[in-house]
Amino acid sequence: MEATTILKEKFGYDQFRPGQDRVIQQVMAGDNSLALMPTGGGKSLCYQVPALLFSGLTLVISPLIALMKDQVDALNANDIPATFINSSLTGTEAAQRWNLVADGAVKLLYLAPERLDDPRSLQQLQQLPIDLVAIDEAHCISQWGHDFRPSYLSLTDTLATLPSQPVVLALTATATPQVVTDICQRLTIQPDKVVQTSFQRENLTFQVVRAQAQVPYLTEFLKANPKEAGIIYASTRKMVEQLTQVLQKQGIKAGAYHGGLPEDQRRQNQEDFLYDRLQVMVATNAFGMGIDKSNVRFVIHAQLPASLEAYYQEAGRAGRDGVPSQAILLFQPHDVQIQHFLIEQSNLADTEKNRAYRKLQTMVQYAHTEGCLQQFILNYFGEDSEPCQRCGNCTDQREAQDVTVDAQKVLSCVVRLKQRFGKTVVAQVLTGAKNQRIRQANLDQLSTYNLMASLSQKVVGQFIDFLQAEQYLQAIGGAYPTLKITTKGAAVLKGQAQVYRKAAVQVAQSLPEDDG
Ligand code: ADP
Repeated sequence: MEATTILKEKFGYDQFRPGQDRVIQQVMAGDNSLALMPTGGGKSLCYQVPALLFSGLTLVISPLIALMKDQVDALNANDIPATFINSSLTGTEAAQRWNLVADGAVKLLYLAPERLDDPRSLQQLQQLPIDLVAIDEAHCISQWGHDFRPSYLSLTDTLATLPSQPVVLALTATATPQVVTDICQRLTIQPDKVVQTSFQRENLTFQVVRAQAQVPYLTEFLKANPKEAGIIYASTRKMVEQLTQVLQKQGIKAGAYHGGLPEDQRRQNQEDFLYDRLQVMVATNAFGMGIDKSNVRFVIHAQLPASLEAYYQEAGRAGRDGVPSQAILLFQPHDVQIQHFLIEQSNLADTEKNRAYRKLQTMVQYAHTEGCLQQFILNYFGEDSEPCQRCGNCTDQREAQDVTVDAQKVLSCVVRLKQRFGKTVVAQVLTGAKNQRIRQANLDQLSTYNLMASLSQKVVGQFIDFLQAEQYLQAIGGAYPTLKITTKGAAVLKGQAQVYRKAAVQVAQSLPEDDG
């Protein structure tokens, strides 16, 4: 049978989505492949169709138990023999399923990666005629990724022990060029077998809302869009609880989802959300991987997420049905501190912490750029694109001001500080702060000391964030990065380029400083 026939007869679709047919062809030709497609791009079909074309078994490695059951149920509903084996089953149930698989009664077998560390499972697998191994969420294999899982590392060894030498298909929605290289090396995928469809999501409108209190913004937004379903992400369980309560008090049908809630309550809330009994789900990042609710009209991040990868994946849960949808990030400098705290609390090794800090910096830059938001994201994933003309920045009508002189003040201060200090000290020197650290290091003797005396340290800090986002400055290092001048910044210092900014530089206020 042909791939298109299976697509039509088994799945009821007329055409392949971009990239699907090429991935399927490569897999059927026996080439290890990597499919890079955005959330909702249709990755599952890339292995489900071959699974029905191959005579033997397709193994699907997937990190989430909840997702497995949903996928298997959906396949079974289409009369496709699939099953999963994971820790949610009793020993007897698992044994029954292994028997079914051994009898050849199953075309797709879903397994969690941890299963492969179990010698008995491995032994079972070695007996089976496995034609294809699909590795979902393949970025988990890379330590450069945002969601590294150690059990994915042993995959390479496991694959080598399978006598049937199956084709390998890795799939992910989030991969920076570095992660792509890593996945390809670990799974022996040739660079020309990477199939990347555009990560552009034409129906998503990105927006960053700065310096607005979360609760009033959210209540107003939800009341203005009472019929639309959406997800509100927050960084901590406590914040999820608080927001849910506040919204419920306002009469909004909101439910909470985080790892600290009892299993049955999480499940109940998830179902209520799926079946539109809840308007919004307020959640930590525990919610979502594998959520297949197509009519999510907005995803609002009430707090800054840890990385642009995580952000794009979470925001991408809006508009999977192709209908115009919004992805909004609320930015408050204080939220950067929360992420710092989460990184410090984590049990990551030092190099991993530094990596986490760098990812966070990119996220902060996203919150401060005045360029196209979609372009910023795509560029991060190594894709060239034109400004989207839809996002909050592309549609920002405000007149851009020439801020070259202010930029030169900041840049020359960075130079005077020998590029050895971070944002806080640079802003303190420029605003003439009189603290001990400044005096002891004689920084009050610098020619740039007090050069921006009329501005608050906070405002100068935001301007530095902007200069970083627009790549005039670069922050190097982990928890306490130091600022360096980029080539673009050097051109401004030499008077060869100008800097424009839409956000007004406000004159100093006597508000307490809470700089991020
Ligand atoms: P991903 O895993 O890339 O996030 P899915 O595989 O879950 O995406 O697919 C997203 C949605 O698109 C699903 O509802 C799926 O049935 C649908 N879909 C996938 N391929 C096609 C196609 N060729 N034509 C129409 N719908 C498709």
